[in-house]
Amino acid sequence: MGAFVNALGTVLLMTQLASANLHATLPTPPEWHGASERLIVGADNPWITPTEANGFTETPSYAETRAWLERLDAASPMIRMETFGRSPQGRGLLVVYATPNGQLDPSKPTLLVQCGIHSGEIDGKEAGMMLLRDIAFGSQRHLVDRVNLVVVPIFNVDGHERSGPFNRPNQRGPNNQGWRNTAQNLNLNRDYVKADAPEMRAILGLFQRVHPDLYLDVHVTDGMDYQYDITYTFQGRDGTYAASPHIARWLNAHYRPGVDAALTRNGHIPGDLVFAHNERNLSQGLLGYPFTPRYSQAYGDMVHMASILIENHSLKPFRQRVLGTYILIDESLRQLAEHGRELRAATQADQRERPATLPAGWRETQQPASTRHFLPMQQEPFNSLSSGARETHWTGRAAPPADVPQYGVEPTITLHRPRAYWVPATKTNVIEALRAHGIQFETINAPRTVEVDMLRLPDSQIASGPPAEGRTRVNAGTPVRLHSQEWMPAGSIRVPTDQPLGDLVIIMLDPQSEDSLLAWGFFNEILQRVEYADGYVMAPLADRMLAEDPALKREFEARLAADPAFAADPDARLAWFYARSAYVDARYQLYPVGIEP
Ligand SMILES: [Zn+2]
Repeated sequence: MGAFVNALGTVLLMTQLASANLHATLPTPPEWHGASERLIVGADNPWITPTEANGFTETPSYAETRAWLERLDAASPMIRMETFGRSPQGRGLLVVYATPNGQLDPSKPTLLVQCGIHSGEIDGKEAGMMLLRDIAFGSQRHLVDRVNLVVVPIFNVDGHERSGPFNRPNQRGPNNQGWRNTAQNLNLNRDYVKADAPEMRAILGLFQRVHPDLYLDVHVTDGMDYQYDITYTFQGRDGTYAASPHIARWLNAHYRPGVDAALTRNGHIPGDLVFAHNERNLSQGLLGYPFTPRYSQAYGDMVHMASILIENHSLKPFRQRVLGTYILIDESLRQLAEHGRELRAATQADQRERPATLPAGWRETQQPASTRHFLPMQQEPFNSLSSGARETHWTGRAAPPADVPQYGVEPTITLHRPRAYWVPATKTNVIEALRAHGIQFETINAPRTVEVDMLRLPDSQIASGPPAEGRTRVNAGTPVRLHSQEWMPAGSIRVPTDQPLGDLVIIMLDPQSEDSLLAWGFFNEILQRVEYADGYVMAPLADRMLAEDPALKREFEARLAADPAFAADPDARLAWFYARSAYVDARYQLYPVGIEP
C-alpha cells in the first residue's frame, strides 16, 4: 500500500512539473486607472493589508487573514470579530462587525457582506479588510454612523485553504486561489434551500440573528471577455419577476443607479451580470438564466431579504476588481444610510404579502425578451489544432458597442398556496431543514388524525447520471391528489404558509417546485417498492379479480390490445393485478406530507 501511494505521488508530482509552465493564457486587459486607486495605503501605514503590501499578487491564508483581523479587533473598539460556526475540517467561520461601539444597533439598517462562498473568488475579503481598516483608523469612520456593517471575510474556509495556482484557469489573479467547493465537495451556492453544508446551516443562523436589510454575495465570473469590470444582478432586475416585488422596486430605483454612478465616478465600468449563448458569436444573444432559490440572491428574494449577486469580471486584474468591490460596498452603505428606511418598509411589505400562486420552475424564453446595449471586446477567430474547430481569441481591446438580443425566463410551473403542510415526525431531516431556515411551525405532542390532501406521484422520475451536489434528484411529475384522514404521530409538525417565510415553505414542501426537498432527494425512500406476491399466489387471485369485476376485465383487455410487450410478459401482467389488489402498498409513491388546502 505504501509503495502504491509513493508511486501515485510520484506520478502526480511529474504531472504537475510538466504543466508548471503551462498557465492558461489570458488576454491582456486594457491598462486601467481610476479614482479608486486612492484607497490603497502606502507601505508606511501600519494597517496596510497583506495584499496591498504584496502589490495585489497574493491573498493571505485563513490563518493570516484571521490574525490580521484579530489585531484590528484588539486595536479598535469599533471592530468586533467572532466565529459563527465551524467548517467540516474544523475551522472557525469568521464574522466581523463594524459599528461605533462594535455592537449591532437593530434600529439602524444592516449590511451583510459575504465573501469567498467560492473561495477562489476572493475579491470581497480583500475589499472588506481595506474598508474595515478605513472605518477603524481612516477616513471612513462615518460610514457606520447610520448603518451596521457585518462582514463574513471567508465563507468557504476549507476551500480557501485548498489553495494553488491552478484552481481558476479563467481568472487573472491572485496567484494563490482557493477552491470552489467545500471539503465535502458541496457548492455552497447551490445549497441555500436544502442546507446540507454545516457552513450553510451556520450562515442561515447568522441571517436570523443579524437580520440583514441588504445582503451582498461577492463572486468572480467565468466566461467571456467584455468591457465591464464589476457586474451584478438581483431578482426583479428591469421589472422581471421577483418574489419580493417591493424590495426589487427599491433596488431598481435607489440601489442600482447609486452603485452604477459611484463605480463610474471611480473609473470602473459597472454592468449587469450576463451570460452568452455562444461566446464565439455574440449575435446569438445573451442567455435568460433562471436563478432558483438554491442560489444566494434568489434565496434572499424568496425570504424577503434584499440580496445582490456580485460577479467581478475574471479577466480584469485582481487589484482593479478589489477596488471596484470596495466602491460597491462603500456605496451600499451610503444607500442604506440614505434610503434604508424605505428599504425596511419595502421588506416589511413583502413579508406581509401572501400571493395566491408562486412560480417554482423556469425555462428560457423561446424568443429574445429585449435588446441589450452591450460593451463587448474584440475577438478574432483562430483554428485550433486541439479542438479541431474555430475558437475565439480575445484581443483585450474594446469593440464598438453593440445591441445584443437578451433572452428572458418564463415559469414552467405555478404553485397554489395552501393553508398549511403537515410533516410527519418520521421525516426528521425535513423538520431539521425547515428549522434551519427559521420557519415557524407547531409540533403536536400526541398522535392526531388530520384531514388533508395527499399527493401520489405515479410518474415521478429519479434522475440518471452523476449525483447533483451529492444527491439523487427527483422530478415529481404530475401528482394525483387524494383526500385522506392521515394519522400523524407525536412530534409531527404543522407548517402554516401564513408567515413571513410562507413562500419558502411552499418552495420547500410542494414536491413540484424545482428546489423542493423532494426534488433534492429528501424523500427518495417513497419511490421504492418493498412487498411482492409470488406468481402461484397472484395468478389465481388475478383470475378471480377478472371473473368478478367486468370493468377491470375491460381495462385489462384494452391494455393487452394496446401493448403487445405487456401482453407477452407474464410477470408484468401479474404486477398489473397486484397493483389493483388489496395487497398493494398503499404508501408506495405517496408523498408523506399532508396538505391543508
Ligand atoms: Zn462564484
